[in-house]
Amino acid sequence: MRCPFCRHSDCRVIDSREVEDGKATRRRRSCAECGRRFTTVEEAVLAVLKRSGVTEPFSRDKVVSGVRRACQGRPVDEDALQKLAHRVEEAVRTNGTAEIPSHEVGLAILGPLRELDEVAYLRFASVYRSFSSIEDFEKEIADLRTAAARGST
Ligand SMILES: [Zn+2]
Repeated sequence: MRCPFCRHSDCRVIDSREVEDGKATRRRRSCAECGRRFTTVEEAVLAVLKRSGVTEPFSRDKVVSGVRRACQGRPVDEDALQKLAHRVEEAVRTNGTAEIPSHEVGLAILGPLRELDEVAYLRFASVYRSFSSIEDFEKEIADLRTAAARGST
């Protein structure tokens, strides 16, 4: 870490604490050369491993845009999308691994989306689970009905 004032590379950490529920670490540093102090924030990067083998940083925005597509024409507002993405992020972060396969992100989306809007859920699930026939939809709808019946009793 270089000093932003004199570009000296030897800086001492004088204080370190977790911010944003441990997602990032804020460090107070002191330059050994000029003695000036500055703060750095290091965010723990959560990587998503795609089927192609490429990794990319987890992005809440990507979750939102994927779900938004499934919610087209449905009574789901932006606020609900943001909340859903937040839940997905919490779920994948509590996994405790720095790298998660993309299908697990999809899996983490299914649960909250099902609670949010069943039609959007079906659309999303049909792509995510690559439904290939009407039977796949029928089975999923049967499951939804069972869950709904259980919920109402
Ligand atoms: Zn300095």
